[in-house]
Amino acid sequence: MHDLVIVGAGPAGLTAAIYAVRYGLDVLLIDTLPVGGQISSAKLVENYPGFQDISGIELMERFVDHAKDMGVSMEAASVSEVVVTDDGFETVTDSDRITSKAVIIATGAAPKLLGVPGESEFTGRGVSYCATCDGPFFSGKEIAVIGGGESAITDALVLSDIAKQVTVIHRRDTLRASQILQERAFSRENIDFIWNTVVEEISGEQLVDGVNLKNVVTGENSRIPIDGVFIYVGVVPNTDFVDVKKNDQGFIMANEAMETSVPGLFAAGDCRKAPLYQVITAAADGAVAAYSTRKYVRGQ
Ligand code: NAP
Repeated sequence: MHDLVIVGAGPAGLTAAIYAVRYGLDVLLIDTLPVGGQISSAKLVENYPGFQDISGIELMERFVDHAKDMGVSMEAASVSEVVVTDDGFETVTDSDRITSKAVIIATGAAPKLLGVPGESEFTGRGVSYCATCDGPFFSGKEIAVIGGGESAITDALVLSDIAKQVTVIHRRDTLRASQILQERAFSRENIDFIWNTVVEEISGEQLVDGVNLKNVVTGENSRIPIDGVFIYVGVVPNTDFVDVKKNDQGFIMANEAMETSVPGLFAAGDCRKAPLYQVITAAADGAVAAYSTRKYVRGQ
C-alpha cells in the first residue's frame, strides 16, 4: 500500500508529488500520457514568476524533470474510479487496483464544447480547441475565435501570427480577458471583433466554410465565410470518476487545506472550485495538498 496516489500530472499533481516525496511519503503519480496538463499546449506562458517567457511544454518538462530527480514514481494509466476502502483507497485503472492511505485528485479540466450543430462533425476538419496544436494548418487563412476570456484572446494572438485574418466572436461587448491581452489584441491589424454575437451553426462540405451568427441584442442573423473555428468558451473539470462533493459545474469542493468531503481524499488545481485558475495557483494547491496529506497519513 502506497502512502499517497496522485491522479493527474499537471502543475498541481507534479508539485504535490515533489512536496510529498520531500515529506518522506511513498508516492505514486498516475496520468494518461502525455503528462503536463492543459498548460502544455500554451505557446507562451508569461505569468509564472521566474520565467518571463517560456512555452507551456518547456515549463512542464521542467516540472517533470524536477519530479523525476526527486524520485517520484510515475505510472501511465487512465483512472476510472477511486473507491473508499476500510483502510484507505483503491484507485482503479484500466489494468490495476492501486491501494493507498490517501489520494490527491489533480486531474484538471478540459475545453468545454460550444454545443452547436456542426461542432462535432467538423472537429479536426476546421474546428479546434488549441491554436498551438492546430494553428499551423491555417496559414494565410481566415479564422474565427469564439469566446472573450483569457484562453480566447491568448490564442487569437497566437493565430494572428499565422492566419491572414482572425475574427473574435464574443457574446457580450466587453472581454473577460486581462487588460494586457486586450490591448495587444485591439492593436493587432489582423484581429477584428464581432460583439454581442453567438454562433448558431458551423457549416461546410468536407471542411468548415462558414459560421451562422445571431446578434443577441438586435436578433439579426448573419453568416460569415471562414476557414477555421477555434472555440474557447470555458472548461469542464475532469472529475466524473470520483464520488465527492462538487458544485453544479462538477468542480470539486475543497477547503483551504485542499480537504474534500471524503477524509483522506484531497483535490488540487483546476479540478477544484477556486477563485483563480493559473499554473501558480495549481502548483500552490499541490503543495498544500501534499502538506495536508502528510498530516493525514501521519495521523496528526
Ligand atoms: P473563461 O474565463 O470561462 O472564458 C470563457 C469565455 O467564453 C467567456 O468570455 C464567456 O463569455 C464565453 N462563453 C462561455 N460560454 C459561451 C457560450 N455558450 N457561447 C459563447 N460564448 C461563451 O474560460 P477560459 O478563457 O478558458 O479560462 C479558464 C480559466 O483559465 C480562467 O480562470 C482563466 O483566467 C484561466 N486561464 C489563464 C491563462 C493565463 O493566465 N495565461 C490562460 C488561459 C486561461 P462571458 O465573458 O460573457 O462569460
